[in-house]
Amino acid sequence: MKLFDVYPLYDVTPLSAKGIEVTDEHGQKYLDFYGGHAVISIGHSHPHYINRLKEQLDKIGFYSNSIQNPLQKELAHKLGKLSDCENYDLFLCNSGAEANENALKMASFHTGKSKVIAFQNAFHGRTSAAVATTDNAKINAPINQQQKVTFLAFEDFEGLEAALNTREYCAVILEAIQGVGGLDEPSTPFYQFIHEKCKENDVLVIADEVQSGFGRSGRFFAFQHHNITPDIITIAKGMGNGFPVGGVLIHESIKASYGLLGTTFGGNHLACAATLAVLEVVEKEKLIKNADKLGHYFHERAKEIKAIKKVKGRGLMLGLEFDYEVAELRKKLIYNQHVFTGGSANKRLLRFLPALNITKQHIDIFFERLRAELN
Ligand code: PLP
Repeated sequence: MKLFDVYPLYDVTPLSAKGIEVTDEHGQKYLDFYGGHAVISIGHSHPHYINRLKEQLDKIGFYSNSIQNPLQKELAHKLGKLSDCENYDLFLCNSGAEANENALKMASFHTGKSKVIAFQNAFHGRTSAAVATTDNAKINAPINQQQKVTFLAFEDFEGLEAALNTREYCAVILEAIQGVGGLDEPSTPFYQFIHEKCKENDVLVIADEVQSGFGRSGRFFAFQHHNITPDIITIAKGMGNGFPVGGVLIHESIKASYGLLGTTFGGNHLACAATLAVLEVVEKEKLIKNADKLGHYFHERAKEIKAIKKVKGRGLMLGLEFDYEVAELRKKLIYNQHVFTGGSANKRLLRFLPALNITKQHIDIFFERLRAELN
């Protein structure tokens, strides 16, 4: 059997990884400024993470949700405290797409409606609200997308109000910083307008924090830069530092009942141990503060390079925009300079999603290598 070939791969085979460094089969070391699509939040092979997983495996790795798993309660408690979201309940699942599907389902059950508003260039996983307006995203469109999801532009106050006034919608879903779409953000007034109009029309606000959550933006959640209270928050990616885990935070005003949601693997013992380890490291090493501080440093360093037309993003969710497409530059950075970076729907944007415990020195090394390639 061969692999179903649906995405291109760079010709690098990692054999080991530690911190921000990945080593390939030839012993070549790479600086990982991408973290496997924002997944590596506390660095590769963090000792606390490895120990917690090993200890857990020695006890039990998985048992389904038919019996008690105290780690789930421990995780909910810790997550609520660290994120300042103690008035939400936690449902655990396995990925970002699954978290968003469950969030949309919850919104539909809660309001008795099914239409959804999302934003142009959004990416919410391979879900019924998956799609952006880019070529790439069109390919990801589910068949029923046209009927179910309305795509609006950020700052389209009128369009949003008109759509919500129809009273046909169950939810507005958005990323407070768009990841795959290219790091655009709604303004605080627009975000607050969404919140206010949704409240008036009995529509839920879903904050998709799958990529921007867990401290990446310099706050625990990126919506916290805008002072609003979403009804539902979805999480995954950096949550498990590579272990597949996702979650839905549901505001306490939305009541649970048996059978509403379900899962086989969601919240298994290993996934909980991985997420707890991430939260413990984020707290102990003050990684949210580090992400914020180093994000500013990255912005400052980037200003020194003329070829860079714009610096985008917050915390360690960053991008550099050029006046040309960056696919070639990305290749050169990997093969000549040994740095992993990311692309986005905006083909001129080079994206960076490094571990939250990188240092100024790592950023300095990155800019040295970028300069070498630009010269
Ligand atoms: N939501 C956002 C904002 C994402 O960036 C992604 C993945 O890139 C997803 C959802 C989907 O997550 P997953 O690939 O874990 O299904």
